[in-house]
Amino acid sequence: MTARHVRPSRSEMGGAMGTDSQTTALPAAHSVLAVCAHPDDESFGLGTALEIFATQGSSTAVLVFTNGEASTLGLAADLRSVRRAELSNAASELGVGQIELFDYRDGSLADEPFEQLVTQVGQVAVLVGADLLLAFDRGGITGHPDHQRATDAAVAYAERAGLSVLAWVLPQKAALSLNREFATSFVGRDDEHIDIVVLVNRTRQRRAIACHTSQSTANPVLSRRLELLDDREYFRWLRFPTAGEAGYPDQRARSGEPHRPVREDEP
Ligand SMILES: [Zn+2]
Repeated sequence: MTARHVRPSRSEMGGAMGTDSQTTALPAAHSVLAVCAHPDDESFGLGTALEIFATQGSSTAVLVFTNGEASTLGLAADLRSVRRAELSNAASELGVGQIELFDYRDGSLADEPFEQLVTQVGQVAVLVGADLLLAFDRGGITGHPDHQRATDAAVAYAERAGLSVLAWVLPQKAALSLNREFATSFVGRDDEHIDIVVLVNRTRQRRAIACHTSQSTANPVLSRRLELLDDREYFRWLRFPTAGEAGYPDQRARSGEPHRPVREDEP
């Protein structure tokens, strides 16, 4: 499967897709490091992106800060080891070459020393030779503080090391639908804040999701989100690529858009 170009159109998600200011393919990168809080984030959230990058020829790696042992979905006696095994299988489905799993306490990543998290992002980034970091959007997508903290650590390291950071985002309309239907706290983005819209095939993502048996067998919110997003995924730059960095210059040159500094409009 490869990313295809999205023709300017309107979909049920609302808003123009593939507008002049948006690009329609993920950037070229030599080595992509996804920075996640929990096992399953790499599949439920970043699955299509990781698969596309691998298909494009990037080497891909995943850093996961916690073992996800606090999940209320899994009932296994030793959820920690169950989720580690699930992560390993799911990563294989997505063509992920390397997993670096840390053992921070699930649910309290925001209480951990920030500098330590940033340092560990850096250690893994250097280990895998990352030239692009991939993360959840600033609001954590689901609003989970662990997700937000993982992304903050990725951006902080990227700013020091001169790496670009691409975030997976949820369109505002999908977030509002989910919040209305499930009383959740998804954080969406308006169209003007979405930089890349990609057409996706979810076959391998769904296989990876299925590997996370403890989390995916009864997960109506996930099912509904995938249904709402249909065959598209959405991304924004949290740190724009500059000359010599992954994502520069082909993608942005297409729209003639100037290269912008780190956004100042974060919530
Ligand atoms: Zn998560």
